[in-house]
Amino acid sequence: MERIYFDHAATTPVEPQVVTAMIPYFSQSFGNPSSIHWFGRENRKAIDEARTVVARELGAGEPSEIIFTGSGSESDNMALKGVASALRKKGNHIITSAIEHHAIFDTCKYLEKQGFEITYIPVSEAGLIDPLDVKNALTDKTILVSIMHANNEVGTIQPIAEIGRLLRERKILFHTDAVQSVGSIPVNVNELLVDMLSLSAHKFYGPKGVGVLYVRKGTLIDSFIHGGSQERNRRAGTENVAGIVGLAKALQLANGNLAANQVTITELRNYLIEEVLRRIDHVRLNGDRSKRLPGNINFSFEYIEGESLLLSLDLKGIAASSGSACTSGSLEPSHVLLGMGICHEIAHGSLRLTLGKSNTKTEIDYFLEVLPEIVNKLRGMSPLYDSAVRKECSGCTRTK
Ligand SMILES: *Cc1c(COP(=O)(O)O)cnc(C)c1O
Repeated sequence: MERIYFDHAATTPVEPQVVTAMIPYFSQSFGNPSSIHWFGRENRKAIDEARTVVARELGAGEPSEIIFTGSGSESDNMALKGVASALRKKGNHIITSAIEHHAIFDTCKYLEKQGFEITYIPVSEAGLIDPLDVKNALTDKTILVSIMHANNEVGTIQPIAEIGRLLRERKILFHTDAVQSVGSIPVNVNELLVDMLSLSAHKFYGPKGVGVLYVRKGTLIDSFIHGGSQERNRRAGTENVAGIVGLAKALQLANGNLAANQVTITELRNYLIEEVLRRIDHVRLNGDRSKRLPGNINFSFEYIEGESLLLSLDLKGIAASSGSACTSGSLEPSHVLLGMGICHEIAHGSLRLTLGKSNTKTEIDYFLEVLPEIVNKLRGMSPLYDSAVRKECSGCTRTK
């Protein structure tokens, strides 16, 4: 059976060149980067070089602004908790959006319990934030704004630079979760006007378990892993040297092929979207049609459970996702789709397909061939589809 991977927003395979770059650091060059001797120095040098590469790729001013972490989730936690702790005396108000990844969303819930006030900026039906809403939410207690660059479920790309401009005028710290955008679209910390930025290697053909938090020079941030003096006392623990080397290599490769991949993946995405909308009734595209990541597709199929759709596709060898990987497995519909004003029933019928650079038109044609059969079969079993006799879902009025 064919195996087709349409789940690149969950993770990506490690690029062979990245594996090659990493291998020496597992056994041949195994020293502890903090050791004074030759074995250590060799590894320290590898980390320094990786840091320089990452800083350059992100347009950062200095390598010391790059902190290597254990994941995108850790970077997000560090940004929020680190600033909350450092600036607590200055204020207790943080602004974020209603559609953040759980690494931000759940950290905000935690900070609420610690006495912080969080404003969750709503999004439009297409999943976009209005910078004016951010401006209007600011108070003299606001210490931090965190808005994701691109959404992991519906792929919408937020107006980060516009928000950054209005925050910089007011000297308010700005963090963005760029885990989905790095390696897919251009990401430059000075063009985006952010003070902090999270990324994760496994989303751009690098290894799992290694990320970066970019922290602009002069930003006050407390560390929350204490111990050794690694990462300039900001994150204790012996560095994941192979992972760090792999992250830098993967970032360099991804950015090197960015423009070309953007064009080809966007074309495949548009083809898939148009054909599904043309061939199947009662299906809608979630998220903005154009302000979205090249590889992201998110549909809602009315009268179908996303989970059943996923299982049927899996039986045909097609790997996709319903909402985000973190939401699947729970029966709660995604807070992202609900935040966009989509009703529960429709949110339950959502299917996310995320394309990568190795996907082909042949794979998409195979998907287009099997999808109608699956949809018809599942709808045939749905009492809702029967009784509603194709009446549009009426529960979908926006509540905001
Ligand atoms: C995947 C993802 C994360 C988490 O990154 P991990 O390295 O898997 O912890 C955070 N934010 C977004 C938007 C993501 O897509």
